[in-house]
Amino acid sequence: MMIKKTLAAALLLGGASLAQAGLKAPPYPVFKSPEAINIACDEGLNAAKARLRALEARKSDAGWISALDRFAAANEDDANDIDFLQYVAVTKELRDAAQACSLRWTEFNSALLQNAKLYKALKAVPAKDGADRELKRTNLADFEAGGVTLAPAKQRRAKEIIDKLAELDQAFNKNIRDAGIQVRFTEAELAGVPQDVWREAPREADGRIVLGVSNPVYTSVLRTAESAEARERMWRAKTNEGGQANMDLLEQIGKLRHELGGLFGYDNYVDFKLRNRMAHDAKTVSKFLDDVKNAVDASDRADTEVLRQAKAKALGTDPATTEFRRWDAEYYAEAVRRERFQVDQEAFRPYFPSEQALAFVMRVIEKTMGVRYAKQEESAWAPGVSVYKVSDAASGQDIAKLYVDLYPREGKYGHAAVWGLRGGSTELQRMPVAALVVNLNDKGLSLDEMVVLLHEFGHSVHNNLSLTRHSLQAGTSVVRDFVEAPSQMLEEWVYDAKVLKLMTEVCASCKPVPDELLAKAVAARDFGKGMFYNRQRLQAAYDLALNGRDVPNPQQLWARMEGETPLGHVPGTMFPSRFTHLSSDGYGAGYYSYLWSLVLAMDMRTAFGADKLNPVVGMKYRNEVLAQGSQQPAIELVNKFLGRPWNSQAFFADLKR
Ligand SMILES: [Zn+2]
Repeated sequence: MMIKKTLAAALLLGGASLAQAGLKAPPYPVFKSPEAINIACDEGLNAAKARLRALEARKSDAGWISALDRFAAANEDDANDIDFLQYVAVTKELRDAAQACSLRWTEFNSALLQNAKLYKALKAVPAKDGADRELKRTNLADFEAGGVTLAPAKQRRAKEIIDKLAELDQAFNKNIRDAGIQVRFTEAELAGVPQDVWREAPREADGRIVLGVSNPVYTSVLRTAESAEARERMWRAKTNEGGQANMDLLEQIGKLRHELGGLFGYDNYVDFKLRNRMAHDAKTVSKFLDDVKNAVDASDRADTEVLRQAKAKALGTDPATTEFRRWDAEYYAEAVRRERFQVDQEAFRPYFPSEQALAFVMRVIEKTMGVRYAKQEESAWAPGVSVYKVSDAASGQDIAKLYVDLYPREGKYGHAAVWGLRGGSTELQRMPVAALVVNLNDKGLSLDEMVVLLHEFGHSVHNNLSLTRHSLQAGTSVVRDFVEAPSQMLEEWVYDAKVLKLMTEVCASCKPVPDELLAKAVAARDFGKGMFYNRQRLQAAYDLALNGRDVPNPQQLWARMEGETPLGHVPGTMFPSRFTHLSSDGYGAGYYSYLWSLVLAMDMRTAFGADKLNPVVGMKYRNEVLAQGSQQPAIELVNKFLGRPWNSQAFFADLKR
């Protein structure tokens, strides 16, 4: 997942050329109290208003785009560090203060996108090259989506809706973050679950173990608990994490989005939202999702049947009448992988100690893309967060900064994501800064967790290796249905023996993953793929339907759509309530982006052929894709890198494998 604010969410290093001055990024600001956040928030917004007045007064001359970019970058500096704290600050008071500040910035930004003076100036400004033309095209589109060209009454309503949607998205996330759901188990009920997962967890007076529903605990219980009853309780608690409150929010969000699309003359929100993305409209995405369904439906059913048979065998029941439930899926998928392929996710932990796993991922990028990572002594938002300097291997210059927040902590964002805190700019001498937030098991990583780490790292690299002139076009500012591709491309690297050998370069005491274990993991990876992709497809189709021509009841729609899958819908459960992509501005009506950009990721992988560490291809990729950000449309970057038009052959071939 990639989290990035758009336009006005920035720094002011002046003048000198990149070759002359070393880039620097300021240290992470320390906020000791909510009041300190409030004061910084006031100061930032006041400064932004003053900058806005100066920009409005400026003539739309050749330097105007640079002035706009300086403005956006300065806003980013004032807004992003605080905004980010709502997800990672160590106390609820700090998180709440950050959240309140973030809403004030949302309001500033939504007003900004209706600023007719800026819109006119951007329209009139001469573009000196292709990058400028693209900046104009995408940012004019952002202004238009913000309602700048609407009649006054509609414009006011659009702003109200946009602000309200941001507030509802925050509330949706907060309901999950602060839910603090706990599930209690006896030791006997946790039979099969590795002791690391629960030994140090708090206990009730009666000795029952109290577990939260965040990862890595949730996945461990679902995968390893022998007791179906224990798995069911865990699964139900997680599935309903956001509760009815979030289902109600989804309905409210759906209505507001529909109205917003209507203000722009669209009869559905999807077509409005996608009009400037690669996929362009709902029809194209629906057709794509249907193709995916056709490709995986049979294997989804076949996989499910294999799992049902495995359950019957394990329990000694009649296969014809054995019911297979959602909370059985992960457990028996693991069981089948163990039995058929003799591979066990847990078996990888000793080979991937957590800290060394991070060093390994960095080594992969160092080898392939010509950079170096060096740990800095610097504090950040929480104890244990590490800070890295990224430098260019050839020139030795510092080029970026990366924060890494590896382990779970109470109240911390529970998934895996990267925040682009600062977009780089060569003209502003502005160093890109990213924050990678994951929740790893400190006892080492499973292979699946290594995939997640590489995925997220892909986003941080996209931010860090950006080399665009303007920060508005930096790294991950690409269209949403491409932004996942660089991350998804790297996921596959984990399954490559040559790549994994790099582990020994960063960890002298680590034994290399035996070739045999890896070969089994590769064989096992394809098992369950039908189920996995069909689930992705279902979630994407649901997200589209939720934002379609009619505004549905979110729960009824989900029950119907999930009900059409081999495992059906479990009454009383509401998965959408914990599905944060649905409420997000970036991913809402855009969850298909994961499958769509996987097509591009798989196509880009073909350029590496059998040598995933090939530094020549890696540098070409760094220069022609990552460094370019959104200076050119994503399609053009991919086509140029591949030396041919992109296609979906690799993706559909993989689905059928
Ligand atoms: Zn991602």
